Amino acid sequence: MTIYVFPVSRTTCDHCLYQTDKPGQLKKCTGCHYLYYCGRQCQRPSWPAHRDECAYLRAVSPKVPTDTVRLIARIILRLRNGD
Ligand SMILES: [Zn+2]
Ligand SMILES: [Zn+2]
Repeated sequence: MTIYVFPVSRTTCDHCLYQTDKPGQLKKCTGCHYLYYCGRQCQRPSWPAHRDECAYLRAVSPKVPTDTVRLIARIILRLRNGD
C-alpha cells in the first residue's frame, strides 16, 4: 500500500504532479473544488482514489483540512476499502 499526499497547490496537478507557473491553467476538481488537475485526462484516472476523499472534503467545506488530516483520512479510507 503506497499513499502519497502532496501539499495542495493551485499550480500542481494532484494526479500527475505537473507543475505550472500559471494559476488558472489547472482545473479544479468538479466535486470538491479543492484539488487541481490538468483536466479530465488527469481527473478521471485519479477519481477511484479521490472519490471518498472528495465526499469528505465536500462535507467539511468550506473548512480546508491540513495535509496531515488529508493523509490520515486517505489511509482510513484505503483501509476501509480493503486494498
Ligand atoms: Zn495532471
Ligand atoms: Zn474532489
